Parts: sequence; structure tokens; C-alpha cells
Amino acid sequence: MVFIELLALAAVALGAVLVPATGKDLLEGGVVIGLGVLAAEMANEVERRRRRFSDTPHVNFSSVWTLAGALVLPPALAAVVAVVLYAHLWVRCWRGVPGLYVSRTAFNVSNVIVSTQAAAWAVRELDIVSGALDRGVLGAAGVLAIIALYYVVNSAIAAITIALAGADRTARRLLGRLNENILELATLCLGAATALLLAWHPWLALLMLLPLYALHRSALIRQFEHAATTDSKTSLLNAASWRAIAQAELDRARQHGTTAAILMIDIDHFRKVNNTYGHLAGDDALRALGETLRAMVRSNDLCGRFGGEEFVVVLPGCASADDVLAVANRIRERIASTPVTAQSTGATFSVTVSIGAAYFPATGMSLDELLLAADNALYGAKDAGRNQARVVEAT
Ligand code: GH3
Ligand code: MG
Ligand code: MG
Repeated sequence: MVFIELLALAAVALGAVLVPATGKDLLEGGVVIGLGVLAAEMANEVERRRRRFSDTPHVNFSSVWTLAGALVLPPALAAVVAVVLYAHLWVRCWRGVPGLYVSRTAFNVSNVIVSTQAAAWAVRELDIVSGALDRGVLGAAGVLAIIALYYVVNSAIAAITIALAGADRTARRLLGRLNENILELATLCLGAATALLLAWHPWLALLMLLPLYALHRSALIRQFEHAATTDSKTSLLNAASWRAIAQAELDRARQHGTTAAILMIDIDHFRKVNNTYGHLAGDDALRALGETLRAMVRSNDLCGRFGGEEFVVVLPGCASADDVLAVANRIRERIASTPVTAQSTGATFSVTVSIGAAYFPATGMSLDELLLAADNALYGAKDAGRNQARVVEAT
């Protein structure tokens, strides 16, 4: 992190010496900063609410203005845009939000500065902006290349830093979710459009404010939706959203005359796991089970956390006792053979599950009937000694 911060400082110092800003540059820089501050003030409440979701990485909407700065301003002035906009966001919005630290924000702004410097120098050397206005396809390709350069430098610095700092090196952790990347690219596209408007007809840059506000709000709604439907411990569907989607799936099966099965999965002697390894290790086991479950079923099967240490799955199209049992036993065996490592103590252990299954329409017509039947089958599996799967036979 310190290396990136020093690199940002050095790049800005070099830029300030090599390309001094003219009066016109200062005026344009003022316009970009003014628009950025105005956009941030418009979305202040939206941004504050987004920040409350601490578990979702954040796409920063100020990329619109930092990329626009990189496209139309001398490199050092583009860095000033980033610093002023981040300072403004910090004072007006982020300060005091739990989990947001000055050190992290300083690193983020340094990352943005390094990205703007790379973009701004490329723009200068290749004469991108005026080229875009009078060079046709080649000019357009230049603008796209700058978006790509900014995005790649920014993502690479973030990914390398996360990889160096933490043990979790999954692609999702290093690069973020697909949704976030699309959102970041969308802000960069708006940034490029802003820069072209600034070069062509500065007043028209005001047109960007409302679309940006709408984009910001839609990101908040997506976060609300995620928080309302997902179980935070396992990232599976929570009980309420699982029920709603399972109900819709059954309705569909009824309408089209197809089938669906339901699995109810309960961890064996989970109380003992908690007592032996601690509740945090118990939570690790729940998380691991959620991952195993997701990996074992098809993408249109629905996995949910029903409560405590109980999980439910809907398998659309699963038609017979043999089919259901085969799936249930595959899941059961995989769970039993997947060791869980407790993050807090490093202890390794494994858990087993008992599974009860029922299927539509043969063993139940409504969701509640199916759940009841699967629950009875689950009791049967527990009674028979646990670590097994039982299915309710059609009568
Ligand atoms: P059985 O094989 O009969 O299912 O035994 P069991 O011990 O799993 O059964 P029981 O349902 O009595 O115990 C469930 C335990 O799950 C009790 C509770 O403390 C624990 N539990 C429920 N939710 C959580 C959770 O979110 N985290 C942790 N660590 N434990 C949980
Ligand atoms: Mg239970
Ligand atoms: Mg249990």
C-alpha cells in the first residue's frame, strides 16, 4: 500500500514539472471538480446507505470524474481532481462509517491517481481526445483503449494488493463480483462521454448528472435486494426468499405438468460440534456446507438455509424416488468427505448430515405438504442412525 502511495506522489510531482497547467486547464479542472462535487452531493444519501452494507465491495462512482479528468486535463491536475473528490466524499459521507478507515481510503485514492496518471499520459502521447472528435473509428478506438487501460491498472493494483495482504486469493475476492465490474465499467463509459462533452460543448456535461444519479440508486436497490434475500452466513437464499422462489417453482411444475423434489438437510449432532470446537467453528461448518451444497447442485436448483443448521433444496425436474435418493446421497457423501477448517483455531473436523426428501406431485401437492413429508423422512434418517438419506415413497 505504501509503495502505491509513494508511486502516486512521485507520478504527480513528475507530471506537475513536465506538464505545467495553463489557465484554461485550471478552469477545466475546476469544472470537472465542480461537477463531481455536485454529483456526490446529489447522491449523498444514496451513498451513505450503500456504505452501511459493509460486506459488499464498493464501486466508486467518482471514476466518472477521475476518468474524465484523465482525458481532458494535464496528468497532475487529473490527480488533483481525484484527491479533491475523495476528500469531499470522506468529509460529507464516509467519515464515521464503521469499517471505513483513512488508511484504506488513502490507498484507494493513490490507486486512482496511479490509474489516472497512466491514462492521462497515454491520452497526451496519443492525442486521444481531439483525435476522437475528428478521426472517426480510430479516434473511438483510442477512447475505448483509455477506458481499458484505466480499468486494468486500477483492478490490477487492487488485486495484487489484496493477494499480498490476505490468505483468501479466490478470483471473486481479488477481482470482485461480475456485477461490480460491470458497474465500474459503466462509470468509466460515462466518464469518457463526459470528457467528450467537455471538449465539445462543456455545458452539455450537465447532462451526465441525472443518469449517474439513477445508476447510483439502482446499485443501492441491488444491494437491498441482496441483503433481503440472502443468508449472510452461508450466502444461500434465506428462508423467506427460498420459500417464495420454491413456491413459484412448484406452481410452474403444476402448470407444465413437470416434477420437482425437495431435500431437507440437517447436520448431525451439531450441538456437539459447537461444544467441542466452539460456535465460530460451527459457523465455519455452516459456511463450508453452503459452499458444498452450491457446488453439488445444478445452477437452477434452489439452495436455502431453512434455519439454524437446517438446509433445503428444490430440484426441479427430479421425478422419482431413485433420482432424488441418488442426488441426496451424492450431497451427503461429499459433505462427509469435505473437511472443515476452523478459521479461529485451525482445528480440522468434518460433519455429517441426514437428509429427508419428498417429490412433487407423487408425495405432496403443496409446498407445506412436501416440507412436512421431507421432514418426516429426515426424522426417519435420524432414527436409523444419522448420516443417511431417506425419501418418502409414493403411496
Ligand atoms: P441432531 O443430529 O439430532 O440434529 O443433533 P443436533 O445437535 O444437530 O440437533 P439440535 O437441532 O438439537 O441442535 C442444533 C444446534 O445447532 C443447536 C444450536 O446451538 C446450533 N446452531 C443453530 N444455529 C447456529 C448457528 O448459526 N451457528 C452455530 N455455530 N450453531 C448453530
Ligand atoms: Mg436441527
Ligand atoms: Mg442437527
